[in-house]
Amino acid sequence: MLGQMQDWPLRIGRIIDHAARYHGKRRILSRAPNGGIVLTDYEGIRHDALRIVQGLRRLGARPGAVIGAMAWNSERHLAVWYGVPGAGCALHSLNPRLGAAQLTYIINHAEDAWIFVDPDLVGVLEPLAAALTGVRGYIVMGAAETTLPNAITLDELMSGDGDAGWEPVDERAACGICYTSGTTGEPKGVVYSHRSNTLHAMAVIQPDTLGLSSRDVVMPVVPLFHANGWSLGFSGPMSGAAMVMPGRQLDPAGLMEMLGHGVTISAAVPTIWLPLLDHLRETGGSLPDLSRVVIGGSACPRAVIEAFQNDYGVRVIHAWGMTETSPLGTLCTEKPEIAAMAPGRRLDQQETVGHPHFTVDFAIRDEAGRDMPWDGRTQGRLMVRGPCVVQRYHKAETAAADGEGWFDTGDAAVMDPYGYVRITDRFKDLIKSGGEWISSIDLENAAVGHPDVAEAAAVAMPHPKWAERPVLVVVPRAGRRPDRTAMLAHLGRQFAKWQLPDDVVVVEALPHTATGKISKLTLRAQLEADGYR
Ligand code: ADP
Repeated sequence: MLGQMQDWPLRIGRIIDHAARYHGKRRILSRAPNGGIVLTDYEGIRHDALRIVQGLRRLGARPGAVIGAMAWNSERHLAVWYGVPGAGCALHSLNPRLGAAQLTYIINHAEDAWIFVDPDLVGVLEPLAAALTGVRGYIVMGAAETTLPNAITLDELMSGDGDAGWEPVDERAACGICYTSGTTGEPKGVVYSHRSNTLHAMAVIQPDTLGLSSRDVVMPVVPLFHANGWSLGFSGPMSGAAMVMPGRQLDPAGLMEMLGHGVTISAAVPTIWLPLLDHLRETGGSLPDLSRVVIGGSACPRAVIEAFQNDYGVRVIHAWGMTETSPLGTLCTEKPEIAAMAPGRRLDQQETVGHPHFTVDFAIRDEAGRDMPWDGRTQGRLMVRGPCVVQRYHKAETAAADGEGWFDTGDAAVMDPYGYVRITDRFKDLIKSGGEWISSIDLENAAVGHPDVAEAAAVAMPHPKWAERPVLVVVPRAGRRPDRTAMLAHLGRQFAKWQLPDDVVVVEALPHTATGKISKLTLRAQLEADGYR
């Protein structure tokens, strides 16, 4: 016998309906492109989202179409966040910091039909426009002079009265797309469904995760285009929390001003928080309203946890996640057995990334696929599965997960007897600088394209500000002497400035593993011994 309860498709339109109906006047405060402050509420966001639905229908964007968005966190972006999926389209979030080649690739690969773009970001898309052959036009989210073809303004798009309904798509329909750097080859698209985003938001608002409530004021510093915005664009409205959208000004002074609007919880990578803490120390500032910060994307340094908690009374929630996991997989909140421990031991536990929430299942496996014991010591590959974990990358021929749904994260981890995960290393060949990926393989391939270079390895070296920075190690061709400046100029033709190695080290030979691969672990140890820290 089947259950006889109602079948209520989990579409994300319901999230903003709920927020507008039951928390309608909750404040959404946002930084405008001109630096000013804009105020609205959930009723306003929903109304604008429905006007976007009408506008997209007028443009001829059919359900199933992919619509891009390159924008900072703002009330307008939040309306687009609901308006595009509300029209049955998939919202493809675009990171403006990606290089031109990557952006062109992902926009064409996803087949973006229209692109929403913030006025100060039109200059990122203008040089690419000729190569974006499938894009029919651009919707500029403010006032800007632009050479983008078929550009209209968001106001023009939103000229309707908002008297429309959400497209009644299947709950498994595509809702959003986020590309993640491929370790090899091109970036890969993760396609979230309405259902996966709804389930993920329901999981992460729980007390032992983000613990969001209508009493919170949530400020997502993490951009909405970064790994599904860490769910805050969904979980904030779902919990009826007020929201503060900080725009593009994420320097300490800009953030302090926005935190001053009563923010109780915020989320970002460590690279954002380090300068903020320095600023607080220098100015003698305080964080009277902030009760917790979610820190993830890279390992959160212990000193950051201590500073927030001891000096400012702000609880740190260390988090692990990936674009492929919607993205939050673990959050470090205290189970009672941890809370009962001595203070130093509790702090040790906060250096782990925490424990899985309801919609994600974890395993630690060795190379042969055997489960490793949860002893807090035995390292293995971190595997995940669940309804918010990728099954297949966009347009990929093969599945990303195995027959039992297990997806290999490429992270090395240990699980302790309390069920907390500690990330210990990374199997995948990527360098994460300030929360943004740099492919070591791409750097190496470009480096060996230089006539002086026989072999090259790019390794992630620890960095106090950026978490990791690339260092390129090259073996010269016989009789040649690669020169640092020439190498950087060579790489500069292909990579953005922030992706270039901090240094180029010339060595006679690189260490190799038994299978002939370059041993990055040994190489890193050698570099560290030579003073690279
Ligand atoms: P996000 O934007 O959430 O960081 P990405 O998909 O870009 O998502 O990156 C995911 C990867 O970042 C993980 O597989 C892991 O290597 C790394 N990562 C994320 N959080 C942490 C953390 N707390 N500690 C260490 N590494 C982390």
